[in-house]
Amino acid sequence: MPYERVDYAALKTELEALTEQLKKASDKEEAFEIVLKTDKLMGHANTMGTICHIRHDIDTTDEFYAKEKAYYDEARPTIEEASVAYKEVLYNCPFRDYLVEKFGPVCFKNMEISMRSFKPEMVPMFQKENALTTEYGKLLAEPKIEWEGEMLNLSLMSKYTTDPDREVRKKAFAKVNAFMLSVQPRLDEIYDELVKLRTERAKLLGYDNYVKLGYDEMWRNDYGPEEVKVFREEVKKKIVPLATKIHENRRKRLGIDHLYFYDTTDFAYGSPRPTGTPEEILAAGKQMYAELSPETKEFFDFMTENELFDVLGRKTKRGGGYMTSLPDYDFAPFIFANFNGTQHDVEVITHEAGHAFQGYVTRKNYPELNEIGMETAEIHSMSMEFFTEPWMEKFFADKKDDYVLSHLEGAVTFIPYGCMVDEFQHIVYEHPEFTPEERRKEWLKLEKVYRPHMDYADDEFYNNGGLWQRQQHIYNSPFYYIDYCLAQTVALEYKAWMDEDYKAAWDSYLKLCKLSASDFYSKMLPKVGLKVPFEKGCLDKTVEVISKKLGLC
Ligand SMILES: [Zn+2]
Repeated sequence: MPYERVDYAALKTELEALTEQLKKASDKEEAFEIVLKTDKLMGHANTMGTICHIRHDIDTTDEFYAKEKAYYDEARPTIEEASVAYKEVLYNCPFRDYLVEKFGPVCFKNMEISMRSFKPEMVPMFQKENALTTEYGKLLAEPKIEWEGEMLNLSLMSKYTTDPDREVRKKAFAKVNAFMLSVQPRLDEIYDELVKLRTERAKLLGYDNYVKLGYDEMWRNDYGPEEVKVFREEVKKKIVPLATKIHENRRKRLGIDHLYFYDTTDFAYGSPRPTGTPEEILAAGKQMYAELSPETKEFFDFMTENELFDVLGRKTKRGGGYMTSLPDYDFAPFIFANFNGTQHDVEVITHEAGHAFQGYVTRKNYPELNEIGMETAEIHSMSMEFFTEPWMEKFFADKKDDYVLSHLEGAVTFIPYGCMVDEFQHIVYEHPEFTPEERRKEWLKLEKVYRPHMDYADDEFYNNGGLWQRQQHIYNSPFYYIDYCLAQTVALEYKAWMDEDYKAAWDSYLKLCKLSASDFYSKMLPKVGLKVPFEKGCLDKTVEVISKKLGLC
């Protein structure tokens, strides 16, 4: 895939010209054609930026792409003003009814949100934020942890923090958290600056604080902090007690008197690990998707034939995993990951592939119909983790049942953690005056509410409330995290459903994938037979079924 730097000054001129044309459009077809042209123009810029981003992530020491990435960090915000101006014209287009017919109501609501949440004065602040989050990512990707004569980064260390041998885990955590402590002063400064910059942006709009703007920037077009709060309260009531029971159950299974934070494994032998090489995992994925449905077969064949995976862990690669897509190539999905010999490797083939699958089945849509919110996108991925369970033997051999159990337990215990990350950010942005120490204190308070069973022993980094500083989303994508919790709830609903009637659950899932962003979140869920998680009692049935499944009620 050829790469060339996007000339943002030229892009801006072209976008402004199209905006002018749209303003003067004399009939609905002409307006429609101009929108398609604009999509193509912006899609190309987006493709170049994404290729650069990918090539930087797969080797953070590559100087060429590091420079290009720095260029985009600077240049990308300079288009924002012209982009908002375009949206304003499109939003107010006299042929809007026709365009809504073509593109659906969601993108127009999103335009409204983009218009109200942006001012040109914000551009230099975005640039500073980009530089800070890039620095944060780099800081955590550096191979600075000495392990048996080698220098490893955090991502590669996770193999040892989940080792079956308790002493190894303990030692690995000590090394990891000593590293985190050593960078904590800078992590504190970076976050402090980010909070202040984001608050300053919110003030520019006349908002009380960053919370509302954070929701706007996540394109929350369908719910606000009040709804999310109802959900978190349901989680405290229903899921926290279940998570505590799971914790206790795991302790018994492990035959340990007391669980500490470093007891990360699910079984005495450790946690089920995939048995194959990365190549074998990919091959098993191919076979699995071929059997699951005709749609998934076509999708996975396309991914492998076009080399759209970069999943092997390497020292200079950025941490984490994601799926993105390339507009110029018919929105071909691309999957980035760091295989490290743990369950995560398989979750790349299930979770990230779930995102990619949804992107694949809707790739011929107008991009306006695919402006899905993350609470919806994560349903596609997290549910795929459950839909693929019948094939787990291919990856875990005789440990298949163990994997299925630990996956389900993990899905449940994740929700309180995710809600804690979310409530933390509400507190942080409602109190931008907090010092880093005060923020960390708030985190510790929340730990007691959401994870009362956790014991951090004498670990200095965790006991000073620093655990969240490894959570990239808190730095890079404020308020993103609750989306995982909302989606995990729906995925658990699918889990309960598929055990009763797999086919019906799959049909509902496929329908939801295809609905994409043709309608709003809380309207689409009931259309495919799912509950909306903002209502009191929304978790009752799922928690009941899952508790039974786990033998915990
Ligand atoms: Zn995801």
